[in-house]
Amino acid sequence: AKRTDVGLLVGAVDQGTSSTRFLVFDSKTAELLCHHQVEIKQEFPKEGWVEENPKEILLSVYECIDKACEKLQRFNVDLSNVKAIGITNQRETTVVWDRVTGEPLYNAVVWLDLRTQSTVENLSKKIPVNNNFVKTKTGLPLSTYFSAVKLRWLLDNVESVQKAVKEGRALFGTVDSWLIWNLTGGAEGGVHCTDVTNASRTMLFNIHSLKWDRELCEFFQIPMNILPNVRSCSEIYGLMKAGALEGVPISGCLGDQSAALVGQMCFQDGQAKNTYGTGCFLLCNTGRKCVFSEHGLLTTVGYKLGRNKPVCYALEGSVAIAGALVRWLRDNLGIISSSEEIEKLAREVGTSYGCYFIPAFSGLYAPYWDPSARGIICGLTQFTNKCHLAFAALEAVCFQTREILDAMNRDCGIPLSHLQVDGGMTNNKVLMQLQADILCIPVVKPTMPEITALGAAMAAGAAEGVGVWSLDPEDLSAFIEERFEPQINAEESEVRYSIWKKAVTKSMGWVT
Ligand code: ADP
Repeated sequence: AKRTDVGLLVGAVDQGTSSTRFLVFDSKTAELLCHHQVEIKQEFPKEGWVEENPKEILLSVYECIDKACEKLQRFNVDLSNVKAIGITNQRETTVVWDRVTGEPLYNAVVWLDLRTQSTVENLSKKIPVNNNFVKTKTGLPLSTYFSAVKLRWLLDNVESVQKAVKEGRALFGTVDSWLIWNLTGGAEGGVHCTDVTNASRTMLFNIHSLKWDRELCEFFQIPMNILPNVRSCSEIYGLMKAGALEGVPISGCLGDQSAALVGQMCFQDGQAKNTYGTGCFLLCNTGRKCVFSEHGLLTTVGYKLGRNKPVCYALEGSVAIAGALVRWLRDNLGIISSSEEIEKLAREVGTSYGCYFIPAFSGLYAPYWDPSARGIICGLTQFTNKCHLAFAALEAVCFQTREILDAMNRDCGIPLSHLQVDGGMTNNKVLMQLQADILCIPVVKPTMPEITALGAAMAAGAAEGVGVWSLDPEDLSAFIEERFEPQINAEESEVRYSIWKKAVTKSMGWVT
C-alpha cells in the first residue's frame, strides 16, 4: 500500500570530506525518511597532500540519490513527492574542469592539503603590514586552507589547467559548483554557480559587498572569467537533468558548516553550534554584523536564505583534525577496524593515563594558525596502551573545541551556557561526556543526527518558487535532544587542559 502519511519531501546531498550522503526529509515534520551513504576515498600522494577524485565524488552523489530513491519506492512513496533538492558540501576543496569535455583537469585539492605552504609564504610577503586588505575583505587569515591558494597552485603547476584557461575552457569551483554544474546538465547547459557561504571560503570573495573582488583576484592572479556566479543559499539554481529525480529543482546550497548552523536553527545573534566531522567547526551567528576576532577566529558568511533576504555573518573556530584522527587510527595505525570502535577502547580505560595527542597533521588552525606545527604524542610510559591512545585521541578533539570555545567567549563577551553539537562523531557517547567535562558546560545533541543535511533541505524547501518549508522557528518541530552534563569538577578539568596547552607548544614550529 502507498504510504499516505508522507507530505511533500525535500532531498539533500551532503557531500562531506569523508563521505557522501543523500537524505530525504518530510518538509512538514522534518522527519528523515531515508538515506544512503558512500565513503569517499582520500589520496595522499605526497606528505601533506590530500586529494579526492572529482569524478568519484560525482558518481557517489548519483549512487546515493539512486539508492535512496529505491528505498523510497520500497516504502511505496511516490518520487513525485520530492519537490526540491539542497546541496551542502565540504568547503574550500578546489576543482578545476573543462567546460567542453566536462572532465576534471586535476584531482580535487582538499581543504586539509598543505602543498601551498610556500605559495602562502610568498604571498604573505606582498601584503603591507599596516594594510591587511585580504583579512579585511575576506574575514580570513592567509592560509593553505582556502581555495584561492589552491587554485593558484593549480594554475602554476598543472599544464592542462593552464591550457584550458588560455583556451577559455576552464571552470573553477568548490564542490558545490562542480556538483550543481554536473547535475544540471554539465557540458550540455550545466549551471556554473556557487552560493555566498561557499564563496566566502575562497579568499576571492568580498564578504561586505558579497561579490568577487577584483583586487583580491589581481593579488592572487586569478582570471575572473573562470569563477562561478554567486547566488544566495535559497533559490532555484536549475533543474536535475537526469536520473530518478529528473526535473526536480536544486534550490538550496550552503557550505556544510553554514548548513549545520541553519539545521540547528541558530537564527538568533549569539546562537552557536559545533559540528564534529573530519574537522570540528564552531560557528556563532553574529547577525547582520561582521565581527572581527581578536582571538584567531574567522569571520565568514553564515547564510543568506533568499535573493532578497539579509545576509547573516558568523564567527568561526575551525579545527582541522577531529574525526580525521579517528580515521587515521583506523587506516594508518590499524588499532581499530571501524571509527565506532574507538568508543569501546576509550571506555575500557576511561583515561589517557597522562598521554596527550596533538593531531597537528595539517598544521594548527584556530586559534593558533601555525602551518609549521606537526602532530605529536607525548606523555608516553611503558604502561601506555592502545586504549589510552584512543582515549587521548578523543580528548584531543575535546581540548581543541575548548580552545575555540574560549576564543569565542572572549570575542563575544557573553559565555555560552551550553554547546549545541552535531556531526558524525557525536554518536560517540564517551566523546560527548568528555566534552561536557572539559568545557564545564552541558553538551546538547539532537537525536536526529543529520543536521547538516537538514539545513540544506530547509534552504531548498523554503526557496521562492518551491515554498514547501517554513523557516519560522515557531513552525519547526523541536527535536528530541540528548544532554550531557559535566561530571568532573572544574579544577580537575583545568589541570588537564593546562597540560594539553603545554603539549600544544611542543608541536609548534616543527617544520622550518
Ligand atoms: P564529514 O562531514 O567531514 O565527512 P561526518 O560528519 O560524516 O564527517 O563524520 C565522519 C567522521 O567522524 C569520520 O572522520 C569518522 O572517523 C568520525 N566518526 C564517525 N563515527 C564515529 C564514532 N562513533 N566515534 C568517533 N569518530 C567517529
